[in-house]
Amino acid sequence: MTDYQLLIDLHMNTKRQGPGGDEETELALKLAKIDRSDPLKVADIGCGTGASTIVLAQHLPKAHITAVDLLAQFLVALEEKAQNLGLADKITTHAGSMAALPFDEESLDLIWSEGAIYNIGFTRGVKDWQRFLKVGGILVVSEITWITSSRPDEIQRYWAQEYDEIDLASAKMGILEQNGYAPMGYFVLPEYCWLENYYQPLQDRFEAFLNRHDHGQAARAIVAAEKQEIELYERYKSYYSYGVYIARKLN
Ligand code: SAH
Repeated sequence: MTDYQLLIDLHMNTKRQGPGGDEETELALKLAKIDRSDPLKVADIGCGTGASTIVLAQHLPKAHITAVDLLAQFLVALEEKAQNLGLADKITTHAGSMAALPFDEESLDLIWSEGAIYNIGFTRGVKDWQRFLKVGGILVVSEITWITSSRPDEIQRYWAQEYDEIDLASAKMGILEQNGYAPMGYFVLPEYCWLENYYQPLQDRFEAFLNRHDHGQAARAIVAAEKQEIELYERYKSYYSYGVYIARKLN
């Protein structure tokens, strides 16, 4: 098994593949102030196994959601969930890259993306995706964000290496403004979105994962990297979180 397949195996069969929460998805939807009775065209980009896709399908009765992820295996899990909840006819999946989306220009009312835009970078993502939104359409995106104006060296260095676009919300709002959006709302994901909703279920899987892969070197390295990320979060959680950004496309 390649490292990539091992990572998929570790993150399969979990409710979410990044920090977040159903209530926070609902809050963002409220702040987006869209008319829920409209036949909205929605894209959920980097949807994983569909934590947010399902909430959107449940709260937007007439919407059709295209759920996009690079990994077909995650989409199979999402389809199964949608089927079990009677939501299958509201969701279409698309296996492909967020850098080459299959939408027509100005065709979407709502673009949603939780914990995923970092894969191509926030700036590139908001720039690239803008053309797919109708004028007045809404972008909801969560992005790792500093929540204090200064922070200890260790965590600064870690994130500089992991994702150097991490920044303050004011900087992220500036990027939105420079790319044709008007920010409409912002909030920070609370701690339980990381610990209870994401890290704890992940940690609970470490032992079985290591056993499945005979405690091989690659599997151990993956667990060690996840453990380091969790430990850093626990130590430095007052300095960063995911920010959730809600913005309207201007023209
Ligand atoms: N939104 C989900 C998943 C977040 S994890 C949740 O909140 O639970 C990030 C997701 O982005 C993963 O499912 C990963 O497969 C997907 N991904 C990574 N690179 C991608 C790319 N280039 N294009 C599309 N999806 C990508």
